Amino acid sequence: MQIDGYELNLTEEQLDDIIQNQMRDIELIGPDFEAFQNLGENDKKAFEHLLNAAKIVNDVALEQDHPLNKKIKKALKEASKTSSYAQKAYTLFKSFNGVAGLNGIDPKPIEIFKGIHSSDGKNFYPEDLSQDEFCSILIQMLETGHIDEVRKILSNRTMVRKDGHLLKAIDYTEYFEKEFSNAANEMEVAAHYTTDHQFKDFLSWQAQAFLQNNEDMDMLADKHWAVLQNCPFEFTISRENYEDEFTGCVFSNPRLKQLIEDYQIKVNPKDTLGCRVGLVNKKGTDLILKSKDTLPYLAKLMPYREMYTQTIEKDSKQTMVDVDLMALTGDYAMCRGGITTAQNLPNGDKLSVQTGGGRRNVYHRQVRFSTDEERSKKLLNTLVASEFHQYYDAGMRHHFVIGHENGHSLGPDNNFKNALGMYAHTIEEHKANTISIAFIQEVAKTFGLYNDFELKQIYTSWIVSLFLKAKPVLSKPHRVADLIEFNYLLKNNVIFFDSENKLHIRFEKITEVMQKLLDDTISVQLSKSVQTAQDFVEKWSEWSEISDYIANVQKQLGNKPYIRLITKF
Ligand SMILES: [Zn+2]
Repeated sequence: MQIDGYELNLTEEQLDDIIQNQMRDIELIGPDFEAFQNLGENDKKAFEHLLNAAKIVNDVALEQDHPLNKKIKKALKEASKTSSYAQKAYTLFKSFNGVAGLNGIDPKPIEIFKGIHSSDGKNFYPEDLSQDEFCSILIQMLETGHIDEVRKILSNRTMVRKDGHLLKAIDYTEYFEKEFSNAANEMEVAAHYTTDHQFKDFLSWQAQAFLQNNEDMDMLADKHWAVLQNCPFEFTISRENYEDEFTGCVFSNPRLKQLIEDYQIKVNPKDTLGCRVGLVNKKGTDLILKSKDTLPYLAKLMPYREMYTQTIEKDSKQTMVDVDLMALTGDYAMCRGGITTAQNLPNGDKLSVQTGGGRRNVYHRQVRFSTDEERSKKLLNTLVASEFHQYYDAGMRHHFVIGHENGHSLGPDNNFKNALGMYAHTIEEHKANTISIAFIQEVAKTFGLYNDFELKQIYTSWIVSLFLKAKPVLSKPHRVADLIEFNYLLKNNVIFFDSENKLHIRFEKITEVMQKLLDDTISVQLSKSVQTAQDFVEKWSEWSEISDYIANVQKQLGNKPYIRLITKF
């Protein structure tokens, strides 16, 4: 079957198998949700416009991801009306929120159409631009005085296009002028209707940031967003750069790396935009806030802390909320082998954080609650020694996640982190995991947050979550991080598998071993060396026999790597 001139790459039977056997639903809240029902008419009206803005942001993200996304989506939607085959392909498209994506199991992206591939540089860069060509053009531009243009090319808010034999950068506010202006309008109207003053303020700043080619406006919007702690409403424009796997290649060219240092050019991968709309859940937020006091305390316990300034030392302005989700669009909805359970923004590459603005950590309730308990039980029976079953509680993993998110606010700053090029994200995610577990006993003791039994629950649920479903690829930093920690625990005898291949845990050794791992990890970040990072990742991400065995068990129990977000507004 052809859609807009492109042949589908999967048969209808293959799509049936994906949708019926390998896809899980995440249901977001709808108009019937009690807290939404209780809103006044004006706030309901505000949300109507924020949801419109979320849809527009989705179009922006589609364009950033692939040049054909928007066109193909339209054609698929149309064809769905008369063809069940097209309808199924459209379901997969909506799951990836794009024409292709990793599913977290297969090492290569699943491509919905023959001849439509995704590239490392997504649509941020010209499709046919190779890494070598990119590096040599930038060297040429720097040597001939095009310093400012190179600065823009390596900024996180531009689309890069060919300009004769050179390259040029187009600011998002210009490239997406129409979309940004429409989204800004929706935000302005929402700001008019909402009854919360802080929220109103933030929305106006965010609207302005969409209208002006000026990084300072993003900074101001971010600053007004990050302080929202007591506001009952949630609206986020997320800007994260994980999708761009191209920009980081500039550090692999020694000559270019030197020039970039000489001219003090900031290198940031491109941001993909996302939008999140929801309602803050008071009870869930109170629980998360208990961890907040631990941050300055933990900052003092970090290894080699005299060698860097930590985010938390620059600002103790960290807000945290637990949110019932109405919509996730753009980057958030690109479910390519996973979906975010929590997110601490802005990231360190943003001006707002660099100039002392705070960060806001938002936890996603509906994502967190979507676990398959039947399957977990089977997994436990097959892979975990029975004496440890009492400690397994998927819900307790939430506490590990809280430690992980807080962990991003600790450790070396962005200058160190980014210098690790294509390994930067893997090391950073791994660091956050390691901080969470290395310090959780200390946190339990000093702050009285958890008793011994609860600690064992957190450890056990975390370790079981390290059971991977497939050998991870580097572009999935969270999964590579899981493998590093799994191997480290195994090598250091914190965990072992008995003759029946069942897991045992030596709880008493966890803290010491994870603190040693934290030492090693921070050293890697401080090295600023791509080679050191690569050596570390390669050493610890070996795919062993036991990992293969675990992945096979996971496969037999049935994996559901695809996600269908069910939006009710
Ligand atoms: Zn993280």
